[in-house]
Amino acid sequence: HAKREGRGRAEMFSPALALEASDRAEMERDLMLALERNEFMLEFQPQVDVVSGRAVAAEALVRWVHPGRGDMVMPGAFVPLAEESGVIIALGDWVMGHVCETATQWARRGVAQRLTMNISSRELAQADFFMRLRHAMATHKTPPAMLELELNESIGMDLPTRVLGQLRALRGEGVRVTIDEFGTGYSNLSRMKDLPVDRVKIDRSLVRDIVSSAEARTICGAVIGLVHGLGLEVVVAGVESQAQIDLLRVLGVTQFQGFYLARPMNEADYLGRYGRQAVALRSV
Ligand code: C2E
Ligand code: MG
Ligand code: MG
Repeated sequence: HAKREGRGRAEMFSPALALEASDRAEMERDLMLALERNEFMLEFQPQVDVVSGRAVAAEALVRWVHPGRGDMVMPGAFVPLAEESGVIIALGDWVMGHVCETATQWARRGVAQRLTMNISSRELAQADFFMRLRHAMATHKTPPAMLELELNESIGMDLPTRVLGQLRALRGEGVRVTIDEFGTGYSNLSRMKDLPVDRVKIDRSLVRDIVSSAEARTICGAVIGLVHGLGLEVVVAGVESQAQIDLLRVLGVTQFQGFYLARPMNEADYLGRYGRQAVALRSV
């Protein structure tokens, strides 16, 4: 068994799809056990409005703090497998509960920033997804205006009427909806006009080369123009330099998220760095 713990572990955190069936089954069990043992945590990364200089929202990003390894396992190493195996439903419940609880605490402390959480297509496809979300909100008495859902582009464009109706109802109560990873899929753009969303997150891949490539700037500018033209807010993800921000500012973008501004961090660090500014914002 020692061999499995050693060599097997290292492989376990390589891309989920490359796993052998037995390793995959073991990792599914590990994920369920990790949920029972409360080994997951959230980190938060600010989405900053560079005009006001303030964070407007914090994206909640799940991590697995593996007891044997001590370090954090990043979602790229377990979320795909969790999605494939269905464990994402239980994991998503944990994330929802934790985000709702945190959002309520922040609201009570006067931290006027939304918490935004990632929702997998597999989660959204569950008939009781919205019931479970509302249950989490009710349990923690979460102000709807503190919450935002990030749905990735591929889901966003192809939502059944039932889901569209639920999203519309939530938005009516103050929950916000963002299309995540915009520009990475092959979307049916004509459907965008009917989507109940507030905001679009432009994917990192669209802005990566804008400083060096005129073509990349053209594509990025057209996408941003499309989103603004539909009356939606824009946030650009994966910003790694001031030069990118300067170029995007000219295109009318004010909201940014990326390592250049801040890496994801634990809640205490986040509140230390961004909690106070929000209190100031509130007292204005
Ligand atoms: P995402 O929703 O696109 O989240 C942003 C990812 O980009 C995060 O990676 C973040 O650390 C990374 N990032 C932010 N700024 C930069 C930057 O400037 N440069 C680079 N190279 N990367 C940047 P992370 O935390 O590893 O998350 C990866 C993905 O895992 C997320 O992509 C999301 O799809 C998924 N995920 C994370 N947490 C959850 C969750 O609670 N539920 C679900 N369903 N999926 C989650
Ligand atoms: Mg996201
Ligand atoms: Mg993603």
